[in-house]
Amino acid sequence: MIETDVLIVGSGPAGSSSALFLSTYGVRNMVITKYRWTANTPRAHITNQRAVEIMRDMGLEDEIKAKGVPQPLMGDTVFCTSLAGDELARLHTWGTHPQRLADYTMASPCIHYDLPQDYRERVMLAWDRERGPLPESLAALKGLPVAVSGQSLAGWLMIGAEAGALRDSLSTRYADGAEAAGALRDGRVAAAAGLASELESVLADQPRYAILPLPAPRAPHDGWAVGCAVKRDATDLAQALQQRVNELSADGRLRAIFQRHGVAWHG
Ligand SMILES: Cc1cc2nc3c(=O)[nH]c(=O)nc-3n(C[C@H](O)[C@H](O)[C@H](O)COP(=O)(O)OP(=O)(O)OC[C@H]3O[C@@H](n4cnc5c(N)ncnc54)[C@H](O)[C@@H]3O)c2cc1C
Repeated sequence: MIETDVLIVGSGPAGSSSALFLSTYGVRNMVITKYRWTANTPRAHITNQRAVEIMRDMGLEDEIKAKGVPQPLMGDTVFCTSLAGDELARLHTWGTHPQRLADYTMASPCIHYDLPQDYRERVMLAWDRERGPLPESLAALKGLPVAVSGQSLAGWLMIGAEAGALRDSLSTRYADGAEAAGALRDGRVAAAAGLASELESVLADQPRYAILPLPAPRAPHDGWAVGCAVKRDATDLAQALQQRVNELSADGRLRAIFQRHGVAWHG
């Protein structure tokens, strides 16, 4: 029988910070949670001042400063008819309006941050080392069976990779990256793609499998991912946007914009 003084159900922000604080005070505790991986959609990246105060108490503030987007750079919220259409309104959000800034400054010794979840939740590839050296590009996977959830960022990247050359050998029916990793562990595929936490939840303790960043130029790596969401059937718009971003990246304009704000661009 397992005994504990405090049983915490759920490893969201409330559960995991309770566990960390109780442990800091020497109180025995145990966390149980439903899933072994983090959420599969972006959420809770805006980290407010009270949350940063708690992180400060936990000794995490310096790491947040190093990895987060600080409040002065968090920008505006724009309402427009379409990406290329009329701008209807613009809100100075997250306390960036000059009239609100003082309220925020006086409210806390901490500022708030936008914390990039993708830093942790990168799309990764799990590879069976017995098949040979780690693949240096996705071209090395051509013709090999690879498991991925078709309804995920990993699936989208894999389906479009190498101008669609991997499509025929992809198995995209998996619900998520953990299921895809299970297929790799059971020897049904040569590799699996998914979020880091999904793949690690199945394979982390098995040295036979390597988990590496997706070797693809379009996959988000360290730093912030810049992306646009378009409706599923708006393929023309998606392609036009991708082409425009490629042009802005190729002629150095994105690098210059990022540099103006003291941030490096890895296009
Ligand atoms: C799309 C989206 C965007 C958001 N953006 C922001 C943002 O930018 N900034 C912000 O501050 N907040 C944001 N939020 C809100 C924020 O995510 C929540 O307020 C926060 O996650 C709540 O934390 P929690 O620990 O109370 O609950 P949760 O994060 O919901 O954690 C509960 C955990 O318990 C587990 N669980 C549930 N039932 C059981 C069970 N029976 N057994 C075991 N485990 C169980 C769940 O799987 C989950 O992991 C956003 C939310 C969404 C959905």
